[in-house]
Amino acid sequence: NKQILLRDFVSGFPKESDMALNRSNTIQLKVPEGSKAVLVKNLYLSCDPYMRSRMRKPDAPSYIPPFTPASVITGYGVAKVLDSGHPDFKEGDLIWGMTGWEEYSLITATEALFKIHYTDVPLSYYTGVLGMPGMTAYAGFYEICSPKKGEYVFVSAASGAVGQLVGQFAKLLGCYVVGSAGTNEKVDLLKNKFGFDEAFNYKDETNLDVALKRYFPEGIDIYFENVGGKMLDAVLLNMRLHGRIAVCGMISQYNLEQPEGLHNLFSIIAKRIRMEGFLVVDYYHLYPKFLDLVRQYIKGGKIVYVEDKAEGLESGPAALIGLFTGKNVGKQVVVVAHE
Ligand code: NDP
Repeated sequence: NKQILLRDFVSGFPKESDMALNRSNTIQLKVPEGSKAVLVKNLYLSCDPYMRSRMRKPDAPSYIPPFTPASVITGYGVAKVLDSGHPDFKEGDLIWGMTGWEEYSLITATEALFKIHYTDVPLSYYTGVLGMPGMTAYAGFYEICSPKKGEYVFVSAASGAVGQLVGQFAKLLGCYVVGSAGTNEKVDLLKNKFGFDEAFNYKDETNLDVALKRYFPEGIDIYFENVGGKMLDAVLLNMRLHGRIAVCGMISQYNLEQPEGLHNLFSIIAKRIRMEGFLVVDYYHLYPKFLDLVRQYIKGGKIVYVEDKAEGLESGPAALIGLFTGKNVGKQVVVVAHE
């Protein structure tokens, strides 16, 4: 059983060498007698920015417990059930949810698993558009942003797993949508594949305030926040009266020892802005409704989704750390085995 272990807690930018490939010779292909666990063969693993916070030292505050050094990394994935002691799962079932970064996993936390009923879409989509990032875009946009037709929407990290969907949801509702991303290739995707009205490369801009005024001369109604830091500060200067900011993530801050300060928070009062953080885990009760809607959108060609697939478990560490330099183009997936 090949596995990816976290060597030790990480400070600063994570490196490939913070993780290690391990070959364990003991591989049990049956669930232990009397156990309610599920034994799975992992097919696709999801690289997600929040995993960085699980690499931190345990004393740093977070909403999620840290990984254990010298243990297998865990994360979202798509897998096939090989054996089950749980009445809700049987051999041959496909599932998505929390699994290990290894070829085979014995999952005891079965409450965090979703059964996959529809295989008329690529299975890897359950790590992205039909999985956790998709739910994040859906909950963040529809539940937090209170969006209305015609509003001006800005999305940062817009070509990523979450952002590309937020932009498409906003377009489907009839909003004006602008995205920012870190390469010209991504800017091109935003405009020509995902149908954003405008997009810009934030790395090419010397002044983000000027850039935002170029695309939003009348200001921003909704900001879907994925990056934090300087971008958030510039956005605060450009919000409209009663604007809303859904604080989904702040990836520009995850590897800093000291978070950057903000200067423009007073805008929240002056512009009567509602700024609200959220966690996708609080919204999984909406999953069936979300799945119905987004599957139909995909099948009807109303939503497209771009994935970046790294082949083989060995490629996992590089793929994961690539999120923090913007190496991924679209949703970063690791292919462990083909179905
Ligand atoms: P992405 O697929 O967007 O990948 C991360 C991207 O972030 C990179 O490709 C890169 O794109 C961008 N990025 C990296 N470093 C920086 C930086 N210093 N400044 C600006 N952009 C940077 O990731 P996801 O779509 O999966 O996640 C997007 C955000 O949503 C993250 O902040 C994540 O933590 C958050 N999230 C929150 C959830 C919740 O429940 N609240 C659930 C899931 C995700 P580029 O080339 O454009 O720089």
